Amino acid sequence: MSRTFSILKPDATRRNLTGKINAVIEEAGLRIVAQKRVKLSTAQAEAFYGVHKERPFFGELVGQMTAEPVVVQVLEADDAVPKYREVMGATNPEQAAEGTIRKLFALSIGENSVHGSDSDENAAIEIAQFFTDAEIVG
Ligand code: GDP
Repeated sequence: MSRTFSILKPDATRRNLTGKINAVIEEAGLRIVAQKRVKLSTAQAEAFYGVHKERPFFGELVGQMTAEPVVVQVLEADDAVPKYREVMGATNPEQAAEGTIRKLFALSIGENSVHGSDSDENAAIEIAQFFTDAEIVG
């Protein structure tokens, strides 16, 4: 078993899609072993997306991620990171495969409904930014 970090983004919480997205996650065999709804501060969003700070969309991304609450999650499965990336679909929903969360729900490349870690190393870093070990119950 391994873990990945997930965010249901503000475009999803705004449209009351938490349950529908969680259903896709669970039906794909990922177990939600920690979950909470939080409102990110600008400092938290800037730190979380620090790798993108030189990109032209950085300000827009931080603005979108702090506009409404998000749901942060820890997901567990065999090969959780690649499995969730597959369930999420491509960053740009126009390129996302049928049945993926982004194909089903995303509005645009910016408002693309979910975040998922891109490596086991980043998953561990991102999980530790939001959860203590005691909050993760498998
Ligand atoms: P991900 O790992 O599939 O989420 O994609 P990236 O790590 O490349 O980008 C992180 C997030 O930045 C994406 O999920 C989008 O929300 C946002 N993003 C990426 N590219 C663009 C872009 O060209 N325009 C805008 N507005 N946002 C983008």
